Amino acid sequence: MKGVFVVGAGPAGLFAARLIARAGYETFLFNRDIKPGGLAEYGIYPLKEKMKAGLRKQFAQVLDMPNVHYFGNIRVGSAYDVTIEELESMHCAAIIFACGAQGTRKLGLSGENAKGVYAAKDFVYHYNQLPPYASMDFSTGRRIAVIGMGNVAIDIARWLLEDTPEKRAHNVLVIARRGPLEIKFDEKEIEFVERHLSRREMVRELERVKERCARCGQDVSPAKVFEHHFLQLKDEGFASIPPRLSFRFLSSPAAILPDANGRIARLAVAENELVRKEDGSTAAIPTSERREIEVDTLIFAIGDKHDAGVGLPMGPEGYATAPNPDHPGEPSFEVWDPDARFVMPGRYVAGWARHASTGLVGVARHDGEVCAGKVIEFVSRAPECATLGEQEILARLKTKGLCPVTRADLELLAQAEAREAQARQLNSFKFADNDAMFNAIAEERARMQGQSLKPAA
Ligand SMILES: Cc1cc2nc3c(=O)[nH]c(=O)nc-3n(C[C@H](O)[C@H](O)[C@H](O)COP(=O)(O)OP(=O)(O)OC[C@H]3O[C@@H](n4cnc5c(N)ncnc54)[C@H](O)[C@@H]3O)c2cc1C
Repeated sequence: MKGVFVVGAGPAGLFAARLIARAGYETFLFNRDIKPGGLAEYGIYPLKEKMKAGLRKQFAQVLDMPNVHYFGNIRVGSAYDVTIEELESMHCAAIIFACGAQGTRKLGLSGENAKGVYAAKDFVYHYNQLPPYASMDFSTGRRIAVIGMGNVAIDIARWLLEDTPEKRAHNVLVIARRGPLEIKFDEKEIEFVERHLSRREMVRELERVKERCARCGQDVSPAKVFEHHFLQLKDEGFASIPPRLSFRFLSSPAAILPDANGRIARLAVAENELVRKEDGSTAAIPTSERREIEVDTLIFAIGDKHDAGVGLPMGPEGYATAPNPDHPGEPSFEVWDPDARFVMPGRYVAGWARHASTGLVGVARHDGEVCAGKVIEFVSRAPECATLGEQEILARLKTKGLCPVTRADLELLAQAEAREAQARQLNSFKFADNDAMFNAIAEERARMQGQSLKPAA
């Protein structure tokens, strides 16, 4: 039997698995989290319930395919549960790494380890209830700065301004190194929080940066910026509601200044000059002019990086992929060993594991599917390899003291969560730690066995 292993059961891994299984190969998913879905389950905004439910349904259909096998709660990596070499010893024909971008980007600032300083992905994992982040301290205060102006930054602002049960925020300040014409968030995302903006304050901020932007050929007049990014502010009578959302452009974090308890108290920011590069893009260059801002929470939403702990060779932009000189614009999915300068046969990356923090679910899905096409072609030409079967792999994982979660376990967990939601009169319920999930699975199994043992009336 030729079996294909997929590391990671987010959108890229699951949609890749679907095509590989459809091509007739046994497909084995190894996933760090107990549940499948990756950022579609634990990143996408909790209130986008319809989108999440639709994706969950599609993911369940993939896992229901008879030749797809799921091992949740298994983290692959040289420092984790199962190494790449151990996977290889199970005789797989190919491995797709679709494990996303689990590392966090740091700027190397002094004070970066202060309390109250978080990476965006960890913070969204927390409010989306992914263990262990769900039960870790991600306390927020009244004055919160979010670095970055993409959709993730606006999702976080939305959570803090609108939906967090704590409701502590007085002000959320979005800090961006470039100007207002280089905003990256979508219109539909800012709409959720626009009513927290002050029109007067935004006009003042645009005035503050207008000369620096003009030197780079950018017109940041309120009329232009509002037309493109803040439609509601076009109305001069626009009334804002607390808590306040504000923006600070052309500013880069320079230092984090903690208080006596080690929690962030102030953030030093450098004023940036905007410079036009030869290719027409801009670069933000920090100047020596600085200002200190009072904040008690700081969240970096500046993208993620690949986790070197997985054990794949690393290049300058994350996991190294084969150079593609004949088709420079086309993505390359093959893992590349930069020292030996050769393609690692049968090793592929897809989704955010190929290109960190890039694109929505549809993009990750497409990436997984294109990658699957290449894998199918490779495996069809590869010799027979006698990949271990599901039970043999389960036995190997258990021998290592691991507790893999199977498709049948996921079914029991879903039943337990539905029961819990009903008891608490909620639309949905998620267990916040792995032990609670394992207990729920065991109880649900016992309940089912009890029912099947009951004598017929
Ligand atoms: C805050 C936020 C909000 C978003 N909102 C939207 C939205 O509204 N709409 C939209 O379309 N897209 C949204 N996205 C983007 C979308 O979530 C991604 O495009 C998509 O999830 C990327 O898929 P992926 O499979 O490549 O990676 P991921 O979704 O990150 O999945 C990676 C999988 O790999 C597993 N894994 C990680 N490390 C290992 C390991 N070492 N061993 C085994 N398994 C491992 C993880 O458990 C996970 O299941 C959002 C992203 C973020 C961060």
